[in-house]
Amino acid sequence: MDAAIGELQKIMANTRRGVFFGGAGVSTESGIPDFRSEDGLYRQTYKYPPERILSHTFFMQHTEEFFSFYRDKMLCLTAQPNAAHKKLAQWEREGRLAAVVTQNIDGLHQKAGSKNVFELHGSIWRNFCMNCGKAYPVQRIEEGGVPRCACGGIVKPDVVLYEEPLDQTVLGGAVEAIAAADTLIIGGTSLNVYPAAGLVDFFRGENIVVINKGAPARDMRGVLFIDGRIGEVLSQIG
Ligand code: NAD
Repeated sequence: MDAAIGELQKIMANTRRGVFFGGAGVSTESGIPDFRSEDGLYRQTYKYPPERILSHTFFMQHTEEFFSFYRDKMLCLTAQPNAAHKKLAQWEREGRLAAVVTQNIDGLHQKAGSKNVFELHGSIWRNFCMNCGKAYPVQRIEEGGVPRCACGGIVKPDVVLYEEPLDQTVLGGAVEAIAAADTLIIGGTSLNVYPAAGLVDFFRGENIVVINKGAPARDMRGVLFIDGRIGEVLSQIG
């Protein structure tokens, strides 16, 4: 075992209120592309940049095109949790991890068994009518075109688009968990998307560990940095 992974194993053996803060890189080993890697969505060519398509303005002005991109690239309903999701769920069951704070919208942490998950950017699995608020299963979005409610309103996924605010209750819960944590593990995130990335600044505990393919957009001094695929790294820990 690599020395840094051994160090992480020791840290986790003594951790009681750990928090995992993650992003799209946690799910690439489940076959869901991230945004900024080489084969990520930002490197592919679309008529508009993905950041623009996934904005509130674009959603309102080009609703049909939004849904066609969303169905094609963001809805990954058959994806399964990988070794990283499973290890984090195991740590929660063992009383080592208090919470997962994720920027992902794929629901894979819950599928793996994690219970205390703060979904900063919402979830593809929840969808609501913008007019009357009626909830719809994700299959309604899969059907094609612009999904409509019985009342005529557009059914919108409960995901936070660019220009939209984060849910204050979710944000507050995530801040509280991070501020109370003894260990913070950051993984699979470029730490480029704000305000989510700023949450790691609330950590006051002892150990910060970063597991990422390549260094995130942050100063890594004083941090245990493991450069690698997070599923592969975490599967080596007993
Ligand atoms: P990002 O694409 O900006 O960064 C992903 C980071 O993970 C990169 O640094 C990359 O090198 C690293 N990475 C990729 N695969 C990895 C692996 N197997 N192990 C370790 N590291 C790996 O993603 P972000 O920081 O999460 O920000 C993008 C935004 O896109 C987020 O807000 C998120 O909501 C959204 N998003 C979500 C999903 C999803 O739900 N699965 C997918 C794509 C984008």
